[in-house]
Amino acid sequence: MNIDERIVILDAIPFEVDEADALTALHMAPDAPFADEALALLHEAIPVARPKGVYRLSAVETVDEHTIALDGVRFTSRILRVNLDGLSRAFPFIATCGAELEEWSRSKTDVMQQFWADGIKELALRCAITALGSHLTGRYQPGTRATMNPGSLPDWPLSEQPRLFSLFGDAVERTGVRLSESFLMIPVKSVSGVWFETESGFVNCQLCPRADCPNRRTPYDPHALTDYA
Ligand code: SF4
Repeated sequence: MNIDERIVILDAIPFEVDEADALTALHMAPDAPFADEALALLHEAIPVARPKGVYRLSAVETVDEHTIALDGVRFTSRILRVNLDGLSRAFPFIATCGAELEEWSRSKTDVMQQFWADGIKELALRCAITALGSHLTGRYQPGTRATMNPGSLPDWPLSEQPRLFSLFGDAVERTGVRLSESFLMIPVKSVSGVWFETESGFVNCQLCPRADCPNRRTPYDPHALTDYA
């Protein structure tokens, strides 16, 4: 049952993953020497995993040049403020691989198994993000969406996580995600952020100079910052 009709909790997301996709995510060829062992671990994880997530419809209000409010909760980020310019709604969210899979992975002591378990948790997180996004699309038909996440860019620091979490009230507990004292999410394979509608597109990575990031989705563009001056 949803706590608020604007809040949607998905806590029974099936962990559905294709073996070939899983091996690709684990950086293994199907005929790699340990592929069978990795797949055996995947099949051990599937019945354990309970990926989860929550999102909500939020009203956007511009406060000043560097501040926006979502349902009255203020966030300080010039880039978020500009990205949400002219929008009346946005969709904060939290997605996670689930505490069940996190606990399962802690039982693995073999280094190789720990590495694969990490990749499997990443796959479960992706399932949660996809399920939340599909639900949101079905309910609100938002068109093209982009995401900003606290902590991805210095402009919107991780210290804003508690404000983001406060938008969900008690619903956060249903996801099993909690914040550490340094505002990191536990389980680690969790993502929080704000989905917003955009015609021009936005990816955090275009504003992030970090070199050799394995998760980079688009090249760094130092000139893109001028759009947010
Ligand atoms: S380049 Fe890496 S660290 Fe920087 S925003 Fe993208 S994923 Fe995050």
